[in-house]
Amino acid sequence: MLLLLALVSVVLAHPSGENFDGDQVFRVHVEHEDQINLIHELANAKELDFWKPDSATLIKPHSTVDFHVKAEDTAVVKDFLEQNEFLYEVLMSNMKNVLEAQFDSHTRASGHSYTKYNSWETIEAWTQQVASENPDLVSRSVIGTTFEGRNLYVLKVGKSKAKKPAVFMDCGFHAREWISPAFCQWFVREAVRTYGTESQMTELLNELDFYVLPVLNIDGYVYTWTKSRMWRKTRSTRAGNSCVGVDPNRNFNAGWCEAGASRSPCSDTYCGPAAESEKETKALADFIRNNLSSIKAYLTIHSYSQLILYPYSYDYKLPKNHEELDTLAKGAAKELATLYGTKYTYGPGATTIYPAAGGSDDWAYDQGVKYSFTFELRDTGYYGFLLPESQIKATCEETMLAVKYIVSYIREHLY
Ligand SMILES: [Zn+2]
Repeated sequence: MLLLLALVSVVLAHPSGENFDGDQVFRVHVEHEDQINLIHELANAKELDFWKPDSATLIKPHSTVDFHVKAEDTAVVKDFLEQNEFLYEVLMSNMKNVLEAQFDSHTRASGHSYTKYNSWETIEAWTQQVASENPDLVSRSVIGTTFEGRNLYVLKVGKSKAKKPAVFMDCGFHAREWISPAFCQWFVREAVRTYGTESQMTELLNELDFYVLPVLNIDGYVYTWTKSRMWRKTRSTRAGNSCVGVDPNRNFNAGWCEAGASRSPCSDTYCGPAAESEKETKALADFIRNNLSSIKAYLTIHSYSQLILYPYSYDYKLPKNHEELDTLAKGAAKELATLYGTKYTYGPGATTIYPAAGGSDDWAYDQGVKYSFTFELRDTGYYGFLLPESQIKATCEETMLAVKYIVSYIREHLY
């Protein structure tokens, strides 16, 4: 009940005019169970918005925890951390400044731009435009609708040819991870821009189709633009329940709701009343099931932490081809770093971060898609979800290298 009340107050306290003035983001070093319990205690007393890990229940010993604290609670939180002798840093001393700094690209022209964050309206118009301007390479289809009735688009990118293998890539699972949709748009742009001139991309588009889903959790994304920038989940509601939304990346039928997911509707990692309860995850899963004979790879783009993860996350078990996946992830991380030296970590989800059941990567893998990866893009917490627009270009450029590396390998190892 306390949590429920707390969440209701989040929603009420962050109307469209939310400004985060005085809000802070803390990074706390946690060594043992006692300290984890203390953080739980703090989270029960004060409303903490966990950035990393995704919720208080996922904190591991010997790790760091990032969370956002509202202005009026910062003094109490600081006192608590000091009295209990925690090692901590204040990552953001005033979130309002960082929030404003997101829009620092200096290209604030209205309309679509690949180097700024685009609203859903703008992205939707762009999906139509990029398809109509590149009819020989891009086609758009609607694979379902969201809870609030928005169209879920998939762009099929590739030179038409019979019986092509395909790669599925999605962005925008978690609403506040704005760099993710930016990457899907960038990917499509690079495909159409470099086809016919750049040999690797030309070959990839000749031999493979890419299904790109630019934003999965559109309702949530819209909500982060209009109401609450830090929203993560979908926006579905259910009779008799005042908390809104489900974590779409805990909603797949892969060890559903077993580990690292919450059964509490108010939690940010709520697994939902059933697997695929959300219209968005159901549409995605249906699309993959219907195209399983062609889909050879599944890539899902999140932020932040700079990670390349592969199955499993719902269990500590390793996938059959884990050595191959590990080599691929390692190669992709190395390739990514060649451009700006950005350091990525890689490995199976459960051991690299923490067990988390119901994720789309594990689900796709268990459907038979043997190359399945989750990307966690920039950064490692300095800006967190508020990565400035001026980093979109570099982030997307380096990520392209990793994606092309993985996909080129898959093209040579079709199954
Ligand atoms: Zn995410």
